[in-house]
Amino acid sequence: MTPRTVTVRVPAKVNTQLSVGPARPDGFHDLANVFLAVALHDTVTVTPADDLRITCTGPDAAQVPLDRTNLAARAAELLAARHGIEPRVHIHIDKDIPVAGGMAGGSADAAGALLACDALWGTGASQVQLLDICAELGSDVPFSLVGGAALGTGRGEKLTPLEVGGTFHWVFAVADGGLSTPAVYREFDRLTPDAPEPAAAPALLDALRTGDAKALAATLTNDLQAAALSLRPSLAETLAAGTAAGALAALVSGSGPTTAFLCADAEAAHQVAAALTASGTCRAARATTSPAPGATVLTD
Ligand code: ATP
Repeated sequence: MTPRTVTVRVPAKVNTQLSVGPARPDGFHDLANVFLAVALHDTVTVTPADDLRITCTGPDAAQVPLDRTNLAARAAELLAARHGIEPRVHIHIDKDIPVAGGMAGGSADAAGALLACDALWGTGASQVQLLDICAELGSDVPFSLVGGAALGTGRGEKLTPLEVGGTFHWVFAVADGGLSTPAVYREFDRLTPDAPEPAAAPALLDALRTGDAKALAATLTNDLQAAALSLRPSLAETLAAGTAAGALAALVSGSGPTTAFLCADAEAAHQVAAALTASGTCRAARATTSPAPGATVLTD
């Protein structure tokens, strides 16, 4: 029997290494992008409807487009087009991932909508077919589908799964207002005219494999951090507040403006989150863990 409603939960990500190469002729950049899924989630629910319709709830809902530019709508359209059907579906996004925060929230919704519509419509796409649609939707979308940890090469969409040997504790400080990912890359190009070819750092992959938070803290890097700080200098104060509160490492998450703080354990994360909230340097601070599973069907 065809399910009448399907709900999928999908995680945010942090980049533990984001190495950015020079701009390619097509405008994209080659990356060595070590993704780690974190346990902050959006929930995507799909229900049959007369036409494609998007609704959204959550603290950042007002910033989410409800037309066909929404990445979840584009995912449903692409899956439907591949199967010669109409995307007659109501997609509801319950959004907990910060919008335009460098945590791949839109990508998460796209992967969630894709998996949910595939189950709703019984289109039975294979994992390879789903990943192919994800890559067409955006560089971060394939990782949102698979979760866990992975090295992304190319423009980030070619994934190699990575082993993670333990639970890492993080705090994410959400800033007021977003940063446009293309604008951050443009600033990167301006600041880094001779970027070298990117490569994954063996010491970082070792730290993930052994679950060693101190070793991971020593190897976290983000080539977009200088560009994000240049566009939003106040992020330096947030980074300093988290470090002063005892975080093992502090960095901008992806293209920002969310900042990420790696902590030694759950208690330290709790303290860092409280100190960041009290510091007045961010809108909110959230403690969470990694790795987290990728897009997962909860009910159908
Ligand atoms: P990334 O980390 O992949 O660079 P991000 O987390 O910085 O992405 P998103 O939250 O994905 O940024 O949003 C970027 C822009 O995409 C938003 O400003 C919004 O206009 C648009 N957008 C399209 N679909 C969505 C969606 N489902 N949720 C949030 N934003 C969306």
